[in-house]
Amino acid sequence: MVKTMILGVLFTMITAGSYAQNLRSDKGHENNPYYSTTDTSKIQVSNAEWKKILPKDLYAVAREKDTERPFTGKYWNSDTRGSYYCAACGNALFKSDAKFASSCGWPSFYEPLRENSVTYQEDNSIGMQRIEVLCGRCDAHLGHIFNDGPPPTNKRFCMNSISLDFEPDNSVTAK
Ligand code: FE
Repeated sequence: MVKTMILGVLFTMITAGSYAQNLRSDKGHENNPYYSTTDTSKIQVSNAEWKKILPKDLYAVAREKDTERPFTGKYWNSDTRGSYYCAACGNALFKSDAKFASSCGWPSFYEPLRENSVTYQEDNSIGMQRIEVLCGRCDAHLGHIFNDGPPPTNKRFCMNSISLDFEPDNSVTAK
């Protein structure tokens, strides 16, 4: 009985480990040593280091707070069921259950996956008062939060597609 349980735990650990590895290589993160969909501990990596690791367009958004043009990203119009991760570090950020059809041209969610999946910071750039949303693990810029979302939170997490990796549900069994 105990032996079966230990084997079960070992199997789960190995499966979870190889799944994280698969996601890393699927999304082109082979050269990113910080990428993990299971490790939620905070990481501090310099911009100089990120610049060596991240694709140019992701670096511009994640580390220099650039914004992708509306209606151009991969996920603004997607309603596939699954999970969204930070494209820089792999941190789990949103579930598709909290995604809603927004006309703004960026993927929009009414709540993060966990309360500390993301952090917030005042942003008074470009003559506007906004609240910036950052990855809770690596501080990557994700987008902004507004108060015009749907119930139950009435929040709109307005995210850049490029800052997100998407993994559809049941993709583990599909592999
Ligand atoms: Fe991150």
